Amino acid sequence: MKAIQYQTIGELPVVADIPLPEPGAGQVRLRVTAAGLCHSDWFVMSLPAEAYTYGLPLTLGHEGAGIVDKVGEGVTEVAVGDDVAVYGPWGCGHCSECSQGRENYCPFAADLGIYPPGLGAPGAMAEYMIVNDVRHLIPLKGLDPVQTVSLTDAGLTPYHSIKSTLAKLPAGSTAVVIGTGGLGHVAIQILRAITGATVIALDVSEEKLTHAREVGAHTTLLSNSDAPAAIRELTGGIGADAVFDFVGATPTLDIARRSVRIDGAIESVGIGGGTLATGFGSTPFGVSVRAPYWGSRSELMEVLDLARSGHLHVTVEEFPIDRAPEAYAKLHDGQVLGRAVVVP
Ligand SMILES: [Zn+2]
Ligand SMILES: [Zn+2]
Repeated sequence: MKAIQYQTIGELPVVADIPLPEPGAGQVRLRVTAAGLCHSDWFVMSLPAEAYTYGLPLTLGHEGAGIVDKVGEGVTEVAVGDDVAVYGPWGCGHCSECSQGRENYCPFAADLGIYPPGLGAPGAMAEYMIVNDVRHLIPLKGLDPVQTVSLTDAGLTPYHSIKSTLAKLPAGSTAVVIGTGGLGHVAIQILRAITGATVIALDVSEEKLTHAREVGAHTTLLSNSDAPAAIRELTGGIGADAVFDFVGATPTLDIARRSVRIDGAIESVGIGGGTLATGFGSTPFGVSVRAPYWGSRSELMEVLDLARSGHLHVTVEEFPIDRAPEAYAKLHDGQVLGRAVVVP
């Protein structure tokens, strides 16, 4: 079968021909219907050899959807032909976090050699993939896989972050979204759907800001050092109740620090490698700063419910599997509006 693999440190991924994997006991094989590309794939592929820990070759793709193709011994909860999305942050399944569905915060997974698909385990960017446990499959129930697949990360990650911050975002509040790409453009829609906040979106190009307004941002601003003053003016001098930084670089975190109100919240979601000094004299009094990771299984169900009720629409650019390396190059160069999705 065809698979998009990262094979050589520092080079683009390639289209490889690899054996069809067989599901072991308790596992499920999916015929992949859609796989999303993510900036964190680029984070992985830009690591130098000494910092790279994901194994080579690595079949990419941590956003996956598929049709159940074959089940391993003992699997009775799904049947061949079921349409499903894959919950990606696989945990041990037994600890207190996993028992709450919060496998994204499982403290044992890495030590047990359990890694998310596409980030250690063979991923979704292939014609077929193995899912290690049936609990990681969420029924699509009529949702289109190509339109939906990115919600497993680009929807779930902002949803988890926003839901954790709900108490700060009643009617009359202000939320700032920095970076309106894959995650950010879904975050705007989630904020509109589940909070009372006015949404101010920041990005570096007018094209992305136009897109941000189309998906529901009330106000847009170019992301630069003038933005904090503009945000303060828009909020009567107070600042934003919550700032969601989907870039996570030092300059955007600095915008977050200067835009947030007293007792507000900064959610540093992007993996841009920046850090933010907190404490007296840096962040305003009472501000909480958090770096969330992905989301829980039940939150993914909620995200898919939001999509089913028509509140979420992912802007998708489709690529056949042979063009996946080209799609990665476009993503790297900021040429993708919304999310790039490979359709095997
Ligand atoms: Zn991702
Ligand atoms: Zn666990």
